[in-house]
Amino acid sequence: MNMEKQQYIDRAEQALYKVYNRFPVVFDRGEGICLYDTDGKEYLDFGAGIAVMGLGYNCREFNEALKVQMDKLCHTSNLFYNVPSIEAGEKLLKASGMEKVFFTNSGAEAIEGLLKIAKRYAYNKGMGTDYEIIAMRHSFHGRTLGALSVTGNDHYQEPFAPLVPGIRFADFNDLDSVKAVWSEKTCGVIMETIQGEGGIYPASEEFLKGVRMLCDEHDALLLLDEIQCGMGRSGHMFAWQAYGVSPDGMSVAKALGNGVPVGAFLAQGKAASAIVPGDHGTTYGGNPLVCAAASKVLDLFEEWKLVEHVREIGDYLWQKLEQVMDQYGCVKAHRGRGLMQGLEFAWPVAPVVKNALLEQRLVLISAGSNVIRFVPPLIIEREDVDEMVRRLQAAIEAGIMNL
Ligand SMILES: *Cc1c(COP(=O)(O)O)cnc(C)c1O
Repeated sequence: MNMEKQQYIDRAEQALYKVYNRFPVVFDRGEGICLYDTDGKEYLDFGAGIAVMGLGYNCREFNEALKVQMDKLCHTSNLFYNVPSIEAGEKLLKASGMEKVFFTNSGAEAIEGLLKIAKRYAYNKGMGTDYEIIAMRHSFHGRTLGALSVTGNDHYQEPFAPLVPGIRFADFNDLDSVKAVWSEKTCGVIMETIQGEGGIYPASEEFLKGVRMLCDEHDALLLLDEIQCGMGRSGHMFAWQAYGVSPDGMSVAKALGNGVPVGAFLAQGKAASAIVPGDHGTTYGGNPLVCAAASKVLDLFEEWKLVEHVREIGDYLWQKLEQVMDQYGCVKAHRGRGLMQGLEFAWPVAPVVKNALLEQRLVLISAGSNVIRFVPPLIIEREDVDEMVRRLQAAIEAGIMNL
């Protein structure tokens, strides 16, 4: 028997650490691009668990692969080899063109790895230990202390100071601001190829190429965070692949495991050899279960030609959201690539997001206070976009009425 929703919520608030302001919905199961709550109500999901559920919910092939691995072997530790990690690793290298991969348990840990690579690379060159890393304002790289140190958000950082020293912040898409904080101690630049939490801002080609050149000139590492924009979401397997330059190191997570917690950092060239035995480790990371998940995800991307699909349906979503912007004066801007798009409003979007969820049964997420972010499962079709737009319009109109 199902309990009353409110009872679940009360128990959650009693037991779970209060770090989130959650919406009053208790999800119970998912199917394709829909979620169902404990009362059996159906929701259209354009948030995908924050850009995680690329293949959608209850994907048979994916579930099957996990069940097989579950019955075989879940964990061994990294004192030994395991087959799924080799297979997932090779597939990820093939998709990215990188040379080495390290599997992590989360996005933030993948960022930690990238920061360690940059530091280690500088240390190997005999730069001592007094080096600097340049990060971007309005970035988001995660909540661990290292990742938080490069997250350009005072509100997140302030209570936990002092953070990792030697981090300098520049303005995203402003090459001069990067040059302004560059010093002889700079050993790397870290940024999202498309800023996600900061409001869906793709890097301009000029900026990404400019930073790549600066890094080359000064023998520093370019580290791209592809945790949200990677895994096909931008219409390329990795968003940087659209720019004609490649990073020295990159991070992946979110959609890599389709809901199974797995991330990775990857590197090529001089960055690939910077780390030596003993420098880094993890107990769970890269275990057979999560790697079987990542491996199957990568197989299904190829089998279903998912990246091509994202391009096509992303174009359609773009047209539809352009129409929404034209229709409502309160929508100020429309940005993004593929199935990672955002609409910026003249006012905070929380009331629209809440109305969409509770009245329209449409799951949307915000990015910052004024942007609605559209990061649906990558398997959506045109009619899903049409249905989403109908519900979005109703939620916007309710939001306007409540202004
Ligand atoms: C979500 C996210 C992270 C952090 O990932 P976690 O798995 O929550 O640690 C880092 N970078 C970007 C760009 C993200 O979107």
